[in-house]
Amino acid sequence: MSTINFTYLPGDGIGPEVGAAAIAVLHAVADKFGHTLKAEQHLVGGAAIDAGLKPLPDESYQSAKRTGAILLGAVGGPKWDHLKGEERPELGSLLPLRKRLNLYANIRPCKPYPALIERAPLKRERLEGTDFVVIRELTGGIYFGKKGRDERGAFDECRYTEAEVERIAVKAFDLATTRRKKVTSVDKSNVLETSRLWRETVIKVAKNYPDVELEHLLVDAMTMHMLTRAQDFDVILTENMFGDILTDEASVLCGSMGVIPSASLSYGRPSKGVVGMYEPIHGSAPDIADQGKANPIAMILSAAWMLRLSFGLSAESEAIERAVEAALEGGHVTGDLGGSLSTQDVGDWIADHVISKQ
Ligand code: NAD
Repeated sequence: MSTINFTYLPGDGIGPEVGAAAIAVLHAVADKFGHTLKAEQHLVGGAAIDAGLKPLPDESYQSAKRTGAILLGAVGGPKWDHLKGEERPELGSLLPLRKRLNLYANIRPCKPYPALIERAPLKRERLEGTDFVVIRELTGGIYFGKKGRDERGAFDECRYTEAEVERIAVKAFDLATTRRKKVTSVDKSNVLETSRLWRETVIKVAKNYPDVELEHLLVDAMTMHMLTRAQDFDVILTENMFGDILTDEASVLCGSMGVIPSASLSYGRPSKGVVGMYEPIHGSAPDIADQGKANPIAMILSAAWMLRLSFGLSAESEAIERAVEAALEGGHVTGDLGGSLSTQDVGDWIADHVISKQ
């Protein structure tokens, strides 16, 4: 029996709705497996701004730092689009959370559920057997470089150190050794100096993993290869902005962005364990907020990842993943997947399934 103490940041738009569904499922898991659930709920993003606070209030950050396990809904929306720079929900909360907690490894899976293959825009034969993971560097590159305006225009600086590339490459190769032993490194080394450093460093790291095949692809070519030979990939390793774009493309292969979780991790000294932030890959979807239409599965799976990666609770995590598969197979889903259930109904169905099945 353990205490699952984590920081819960519902955020904006559909964040609180999908968050409530995930919390219901976590309660079911805690009841079934005899754990104590302790969710420290705090404001973040637009919700914090509306309460007269900074996008990342100190209290929220301190809780995140203390628990080291964060379940986040989504932040942002048109209501705050007029704000500038770090006053904005995304720039003022998400990026500082990633940077200050050193969450440099972002992990997103791409394994289409059999029940959703028909919903994806690609032919079945191009999707069946697809099972890859994207490892995206999350705290460096152009998103964190110096940015500004001058009299003639604007600039965003892209920088990477060898150490930054090396530590994320090691994570990709380590993961590949537990899977099909292939890393595809994506860069733009025909044009960018940071990409040339990226490729050189990845080649150096690869020397320590003789059993792992290494492939290099330019990012423009990769956007095509992902659609034409998705089954060939095992671990895809890439820098921050390329990863941002490629992971959204990958989500299309899975039939809906409403079913894909993500983890952003920091590996400190072994005694300190992993620090992780878990969130769905979708945004705050203001167009469907407060209508009970949001698909909560990505958020529920993010909670499952939190149990496995931050608390070492694999059986509990698998119980949730099995319940999600059962919901998809049985059509107990929201409208985006062709179902008629509300966000809360889907959460309750999955929670009941966790309780009632072995
Ligand atoms: P989005 O992911 O919020 O929505 C894109 C489309 O997908 C919308 O039509 C939406 O209704 C649909 N959708 C998204 N999630 C869904 C779900 N769970 N169930 C059913 N349908 C779903 O992307 P966007 O519209 O580009 O962005 C909206 C806001 O979210 C913006 O302010 C953006 O900055 C923010 N955003 C935040 C994060 C984050 O917090 N990590 C990530 C991406 C976007």
